[in-house]
Amino acid sequence: MKNKKRNEEKRQNPYKYSFTIDQEKCIKCDWCLKEKPHDNCILMLKELDTDSKNNPIAYKLAERKRDMNVIWINSDECTRCGICEKVCPVDAIDRSLIQTK
Ligand code: SF4
Ligand code: SF4
Repeated sequence: MKNKKRNEEKRQNPYKYSFTIDQEKCIKCDWCLKEKPHDNCILMLKELDTDSKNNPIAYKLAERKRDMNVIWINSDECTRCGICEKVCPVDAIDRSLIQTK
């Protein structure tokens, strides 16, 4: 019953946290990749194309760590658990509140 109420509150909440990696700060230590709870919430990328507002348009996955140029949070798979933010040694992961409705 409690869970049902919480889920309903979540569904109606017009705000959610968005997690992003500050590429200037990221030292590509891969700690967040090791601790992530979902396979695809944080990705190793070879390339990332963004539009003028810094929204992702297209990306190419890196097969191996040595091909990785960007570590990127895939907001479609992120469940906003905050684990990556906690393990990052250089505070490269930003959390911001965004409006969804
Ligand atoms: S907040 Fe959690 S789910 Fe989202 S990217 Fe970080 S580790 Fe993955
Ligand atoms: S833990 Fe932080 S510094 Fe390390 S790869 Fe992830 S975002 Fe970059």
